[in-house]
Amino acid sequence: MKENTVLSTVYKKICKDTGNQNESARLIAVVRFLTLCLLTHSLSCCILVSITGHIGALCFCALSLVLFLAVFVLSYRGSTFTSYCILNICILLWTIINVLTFGWNIGVQHFLVVLLVFVFFSKYKFEAAKVTYAGILFALRLCLYYYCKYHEPSILLDEPLGSAMQIVNTFFVFLAMGLVAYLFSSSTQEMEGKLIAYNKKLQKQASLDPLTGLFNRRRTMEYLENLLSNVETQVSICLCDIDHFKRVNDTYGHNVGDVVLRTLSDTFRKRLPPDTFISRWGGEEFLLIFPRLNGDETSTVLNILRQKIREITFDGGEEQFTVSLTYGLVEYDFHSDITTLLKEADEKLYAGKEGGRDRIVF
Ligand code: GH3
Ligand code: MG
Ligand code: MG
Repeated sequence: MKENTVLSTVYKKICKDTGNQNESARLIAVVRFLTLCLLTHSLSCCILVSITGHIGALCFCALSLVLFLAVFVLSYRGSTFTSYCILNICILLWTIINVLTFGWNIGVQHFLVVLLVFVFFSKYKFEAAKVTYAGILFALRLCLYYYCKYHEPSILLDEPLGSAMQIVNTFFVFLAMGLVAYLFSSSTQEMEGKLIAYNKKLQKQASLDPLTGLFNRRRTMEYLENLLSNVETQVSICLCDIDHFKRVNDTYGHNVGDVVLRTLSDTFRKRLPPDTFISRWGGEEFLLIFPRLNGDETSTVLNILRQKIREITFDGGEEQFTVSLTYGLVEYDFHSDITTLLKEADEKLYAGKEGGRDRIVF
């Protein structure tokens, strides 16, 4: 637990933003992690060469250590862009001097590839500059190769120090490359994750009625089209409408009317079979779709619902009141289109209203 806190504090310190709102917090974290990686690399080399007692190499590694330590400290002073440029220049010059000093065989030239990845993944949109830089790095690597081919290094490392340096360099090149790729790609993945979640939220909002949380008309049409285009079982559709709802609003106020709409929606959710598609079709009209149920089965379900709704008492302030709905029910005949079905349900609803309301017409 304590260890976790220490680690997260260190992590936060490394990722600490430069305070400039226009700059990427991710980039400065990559700059610092990469610098720390090179700092550790220099420290490892210092230990390695001090074991073998090579003074010249030790001086070089100690200077590298001081250089990357300075870059790390500077990253907390300047802007992200300045730190990014400083690190770039330092890695570039350090790699060149390293190759010229120790030769090609210790594998330090691979840091040029790390530099390439670091530059290309960065958020800066200097496309032409990036391509030019890649060309320069490529040319530089070739030049260094041919230079080393025909010149002896300033410090020739004996075995096994040469091999040990090769291993250390290979390890740190992989580590640096992995760090840069991981840190940059995790930011992209994070962003993609956020976008997907946001899209889902938007999609949900576009499908739901804000007052009742039921599906809206647009989503209902989508569902119906999909359902009826590959229907295999019975489907029943019911259009229902609150009776004398205008009176409820006029007598108890619009807010109480809203409570009625929400309570009825909750009752639908609670009382109807789980696969029922429940939607708010219009103001005080609901469309209920029953996949798998025929008209008679739906009629039984609706009768229970109708009675339950009649039992709900609403608080109208001075008095309590109840509401009823009228239901127009149709069974899908496997060939009618959506418009015809809805028209039929609407006619049945109208017949129910004419017949005295609070009833199911099938
Ligand atoms: P009927 O039994 O014939 O259906 O009569 P009714 O009064 O229910 O029908 P009418 O079409 O005359 O009135 C519907 C009312 O529904 C009018 C409108 O203000 C109300 N209404 C529609 N949407 C909402 C809403 O979101 N909230 C509230 N409180 N009322 C709404
Ligand atoms: Mg009504
Ligand atoms: Mg109505």
